[in-house]
Amino acid sequence: MTSSSFPASASSSSASSALSRSAASAAPARLALKGDLLDFTAAPAWARVDDPAVRFRPGHWLLIEQGRIVGVQADDPGEGWQREDHSGRLILPGFVDTHVHSPQLDVIASYGTELLDWLNTYTFPAERRYQDPDVAQEGAARFLDALLAHGTTAAVVYPTVHKVSAEALFEAAAARGMRLITGKILMDRHAPDGLRDDVHQAERDCLDLIARHHRRERLAYAVTVRFAPTSTPEQLAMAGALCRADPTLYMQTHVAENRSEVDWVARLFPEARSYLDVYDRVGLLHPRAVLAHGIWLDETDRAVLARTGAQIAHCPSSNLFLGSGLFDWPAHLAAGVAVSVASDVGGGTSLSTQRTLSDGYKVQALKGQRMTAWCGLHAATRGAAEALDLSSELGHFDPGTLADVCIWDWASGPVAQGRMDLARDLHERVFAWMTLSDERNLVASYVAGVARFRRD
Ligand SMILES: [Zn+2]
Repeated sequence: MTSSSFPASASSSSASSALSRSAASAAPARLALKGDLLDFTAAPAWARVDDPAVRFRPGHWLLIEQGRIVGVQADDPGEGWQREDHSGRLILPGFVDTHVHSPQLDVIASYGTELLDWLNTYTFPAERRYQDPDVAQEGAARFLDALLAHGTTAAVVYPTVHKVSAEALFEAAAARGMRLITGKILMDRHAPDGLRDDVHQAERDCLDLIARHHRRERLAYAVTVRFAPTSTPEQLAMAGALCRADPTLYMQTHVAENRSEVDWVARLFPEARSYLDVYDRVGLLHPRAVLAHGIWLDETDRAVLARTGAQIAHCPSSNLFLGSGLFDWPAHLAAGVAVSVASDVGGGTSLSTQRTLSDGYKVQALKGQRMTAWCGLHAATRGAAEALDLSSELGHFDPGTLADVCIWDWASGPVAQGRMDLARDLHERVFAWMTLSDERNLVASYVAGVARFRRD
């Protein structure tokens, strides 16, 4: 049973759904993919277009054994390999979306509000439906298939306050072999009926989900505070205690997205120096903490992020759509803060990482700064993997990593093709691709060497 108005059968994800449920769940013993391989060996410098951290190997074979990358070579590997020749196409590591809300696919592209009104008008009613296990299961499957159909193979995800919604996401990700970090939302005040928990039941639910899913296959648990206003000080303290008890847990929340929200937090927590300080005081900031937005932080806040190792998930599409503000990316880099990029659907208007990065470029342009394609793509692949302490598993083509890999057309349609033909150097070409492409360019998505989406 579902109350969704976005049937899976009408979306381009139906092909990947079919693959997910088919027998195509075991990686081929030896798979070789040929195309233009692009990844990063380190973090590119801000605003540098000829950066040595960029590794471009056109017309090369990516060799995968039992789901793991074992090498890259120019020569055809021969008969002993299942070969797929995608010559003239771009091959990238699968994208990592570090902040996205699965139930909010149902409210993407909703008109006319800023953050706090948007939550009350659109988001909370959509999330309430996820207390129904059937809705949660159908929604989790539809959401993950949609990620795969956009070239995103790993994600840090918000379900809803309901335990069953986190459970459904874990099971759906395990069925697809995906790297997924999630946890039930903690929210015990300032939310409508049907969307609040309480400290003790929430703690029991978290401990049970951690025991059964954290570090199972490619799953990990994130202590998930929606944002400071919707948790009591007692619940925030409980969340901090969970993190201190197990440093392998992730933490996700929102911070300093919108000025009205920042003012509200200041009234609710007068003892805190800043919004970020509310989290720091209870021990929620650590190297596995992922904080979305961070638009209205100051230099002291950025120093706290750097000291604790907590990272920012920058959500440019959402920030523009909700009119939240312009994130200062270089200021965070200068302070030594890790920054990844995220769709923040449904505040963001697309699951496409290219569209997110294109908006990211525009946000920096409005601040008089320029984001290279290298900084954007690194933040969505190797940079995100390193920030999440997952770079031994994904985000690049080094031997030993799991083959989370996507194949893309360089161009879709005559305008993009014409622009590609005129590109004078690699950065110009990749920047045009980042700006003009989207999920329609996606040919296939592999998760640990298994095709989980194919366009045809
Ligand atoms: Zn969000």
